[in-house]
Amino acid sequence: MKTIANYIRSLFLFELLKGLSVTGSYFFARKFTLQYPEQKAPVSPRFRGLHALRRYPNGEERCIACKLCEAVCPALAITIEAEPRDDGSRRTTRYDIDLFKCIYCGFCEESCPVDSIVETRVYEYHFENRGEQIMTKQMLLDIGDKYEQQLAADRAAQAAVR
Ligand code: SF4
Ligand code: SF4
Repeated sequence: MKTIANYIRSLFLFELLKGLSVTGSYFFARKFTLQYPEQKAPVSPRFRGLHALRRYPNGEERCIACKLCEAVCPALAITIEAEPRDDGSRRTTRYDIDLFKCIYCGFCEESCPVDSIVETRVYEYHFENRGEQIMTKQMLLDIGDKYEQQLAADRAAQAAVR
């Protein structure tokens, strides 16, 4: 009896029609795919993308060279060298992040007492030559300057929900 049932199912392509009905049901359903890069998915204020070093509104670097971020980084991706300035303040002379080592865990920004090292929403970047993955202090500051408005807004949004 089971054999006959299977024969009839095969004869009338029952399994094929069943599969096509599933395909058809999704044909008119709401689409979740995006036409990237013309269309972009929404990005959370907590997104951990490309790193940046922030400044205060007066242009002074926030970083005080405490090296907490370097110590907490599980990938040993951050390298900091520092020395005191003439005015006695302590600032970095070198601040490098190796993005090939970085695992984008966010520990560096969590550890920073002055909100200096942060991760932006930027995820569209690439490297074409050896060594380009090393983000220097100046490169990080430039990224911070470029996205400061967004960074400040994201930090305010995160503070509001805490
Ligand atoms: S995101 Fe994590 S792995 Fe990357 S530099 Fe910061 S602490 Fe290191
Ligand atoms: S970025 Fe923040 S945690 Fe890292 S050295 Fe500077 S002040 Fe300290």
